[in-house]
Amino acid sequence: MTAHPHRQTTRFLATIHTPGCRPVDDDPPVFDTPQQAWAWLAEQRQQAEDDAVVLLDDEGDTCYSTTLQELAGLAAISAPDAAWDGTGSVRGDTPGDGGSHDLGLVYEVTALDDPAVCANPGHDHTAHDTTGTAIDGPHRCGHCGRPAHWDEQVDDYQHDDPTAPDCFLIRRLPGATPCHPERTTH
Ligand SMILES: [Zn+2]
Ligand SMILES: [Zn+2]
Repeated sequence: MTAHPHRQTTRFLATIHTPGCRPVDDDPPVFDTPQQAWAWLAEQRQQAEDDAVVLLDDEGDTCYSTTLQELAGLAAISAPDAAWDGTGSVRGDTPGDGGSHDLGLVYEVTALDDPAVCANPGHDHTAHDTTGTAIDGPHRCGHCGRPAHWDEQVDDYQHDDPTAPDCFLIRRLPGATPCHPERTTH
């Protein structure tokens, strides 16, 4: 028995957002491995910190944040494996802001399953444009960008990942059925 029967089809979504807000990027990039996703996030962070040159000290040395170090550290870990599935989030301040009203930024890597491997017949993973026409690619939550689907059982949209936090549009409902029942048995 293998712990990751769908490993080959799992891809990884990299998002940056302000807590409580939708992602900065409407079409966040998708990567084949968590390392690539974290490396991209680290790159974005470094660029933002480079742009916020006001933070440079007098010597002109760039003082990169612990947030960047953390992202780079995660990009160096081989995943997914038995110890870590490669997903998670890192929160840091906003480069160039850092004021008391700064909500900060959340850098997040989410596993994105190919809907073709969804084993639940009560799910509809079809993506639609605003006119209701089916389009290519998996359905994504209109608020948080996480992969989502229509669940017949609860008559509502649900995030594909049953452990995904509730967002503005989608709340995990009791009675919702997972895409991969074998994954949620603990
Ligand atoms: Zn959502
Ligand atoms: Zn499903």
